[in-house]
Amino acid sequence: MELTTHSPKETEALAARVVHALLSRSGTAGTATILALQGDLGAGKTAFTKGLAKALQVAEEVTSPTFVIQKLYPIPGTGPFTQLVHIDAYRLEGKDELKTIGWHDLATDPNNLVVMEWPEQVGLGVPERAYWLSFEHVSENERKIEVDERLHIEQDIK
Ligand code: ADP
Ligand code: MG
Repeated sequence: MELTTHSPKETEALAARVVHALLSRSGTAGTATILALQGDLGAGKTAFTKGLAKALQVAEEVTSPTFVIQKLYPIPGTGPFTQLVHIDAYRLEGKDELKTIGWHDLATDPNNLVVMEWPEQVGLGVPERAYWLSFEHVSENERKIEVDERLHIEQDIK
């Protein structure tokens, strides 16, 4: 599904809908839930991740993990997710470099919600089950966002 947001706030609201869709799904035993966020610099990937964190009641403010590659945030409450893993793969080259951040353990823990910016950098390292979202800069405040159909979010933002 493709939709357009007109402010960071609307992009955060879309993230809240994605959280809702993920929480209302039946669980995925033995695997983390992975969101692959594709799109150019400034397209809104980090803004979307901030919205995810807010919707999950993460207390800490989410900032871009560009220089540190990944940041971990505890998610309060009774689950199913207990940790938000925010990865910026911009500086990684190829799937072998994912191993340097302990990818196997991150990706197999069902308590993890993993969000990866620049997934194309690690290509085949992104599992088949990952949900893809593509962000496109349209104008200063407009972003076109294509959401993986398998997420089954309802369309109410135009
Ligand atoms: P990325 O992580 O994709 O590089 P960011 O989320 O860091 O992008 O930056 C997006 C920038 O665009 C922010 O400065 C944000 O305020 C601005 N922006 C303007 N309109 C939107 C929108 N509709 N959705 C998301 N961000 C927007
Ligand atoms: Mg970013």
